Amino acid sequence: MLSYGFFPDWTWIVGAWIGATVGSFLNVVIYRLPRGLSIGQPKWSFCPKCEARLRLPDLIPLFSWLFLRGKCRHCAAPIGPRYFIVELITGSLFGMIWYQHFVVGGGSAAYETTMVVGYSLLAAALVAAIFTDLAHYIIPDQINAFMLATGIGMNIALLVMNHPAAMQWGMPSSIAGALVGIGVIWGIAFLGRLAFGKDAMGHGDIKMARGIGAVILPAAALMSFALAVIMGALMGVVIIIARRYASDEAEEVDEDAENIEEPETIGSLLKCGLGYVLCIDVIGLFVPKLYEAWFEENPYAVEEIEDDPEVSLSMIPFGPYLAAGALGAMLFNEPLQKLIDAYLNSVGPS
Ligand SMILES: [Zn+2]
Repeated sequence: MLSYGFFPDWTWIVGAWIGATVGSFLNVVIYRLPRGLSIGQPKWSFCPKCEARLRLPDLIPLFSWLFLRGKCRHCAAPIGPRYFIVELITGSLFGMIWYQHFVVGGGSAAYETTMVVGYSLLAAALVAAIFTDLAHYIIPDQINAFMLATGIGMNIALLVMNHPAAMQWGMPSSIAGALVGIGVIWGIAFLGRLAFGKDAMGHGDIKMARGIGAVILPAAALMSFALAVIMGALMGVVIIIARRYASDEAEEVDEDAENIEEPETIGSLLKCGLGYVLCIDVIGLFVPKLYEAWFEENPYAVEEIEDDPEVSLSMIPFGPYLAAGALGAMLFNEPLQKLIDAYLNSVGPS
């Protein structure tokens, strides 16, 4: 049993480089999944404009984009900064996770390895979710199912090593976390629908919260949802201030369009919530008939998506906040917990 980190400090760069490479793959996921394209076919990356196959020199994370100055080598079509940003963010996250568990660590090698692998997989899925949601208002079911599977995989590893974190509330802790995730975000959707007659949360948000809870477990999940709400509220203030300085005719048109949509029925919300608890959306990826029978929707149906949707500041969906909150709770769990404890101690004796 190692009591202190087992890799030297500088090795975080190895984690960061693995992350940047994973980020390069995430760009493929972010482009293809919402368009209903296969992740595995074709196996190579291609330019979305001229469809030329990209070769090794075009596929080096971070450097290729900088070296080509964000343009396709073949047709000179601009390649958005998103490609670079996704690689940079994923690299940074993997580097931080590596450092926290392999350099600072504290647990056994098996435990810290489980945390690095599981947290890195969740971080990758969250980055993909943030960017598909920002670009298309979609969090693909595959990404949410992947998060849930990651949590269950980590839980199995914790059970095998007999770690105290493996069980919570008399059940496997990943299931407890998943139920907390659905409970809170579905609960907000349900109360919002009852109180305001409006759709308060997207279904992708509910499914993502389930996956987040399964990996970071109930206490950190609650913290992550609080962070998401705080970030959303801060952004709301920024938007109100920004509007004072900008003409907002376009925004008003957006709002009118939004109001035309009928809110979801209470019955559908209840049925879908139960479906998420039973993971019918996950099983349904393999048994599309089951998915269609329960949700009255084909899991692989592709909605029309615009290639360059205009992301309006006031139309930012909740998914990216939820994902950012999860990243915050995952990376800063201990300092946040200390902050909360200090606050609770200061308000009164417990
Ligand atoms: Zn091209």
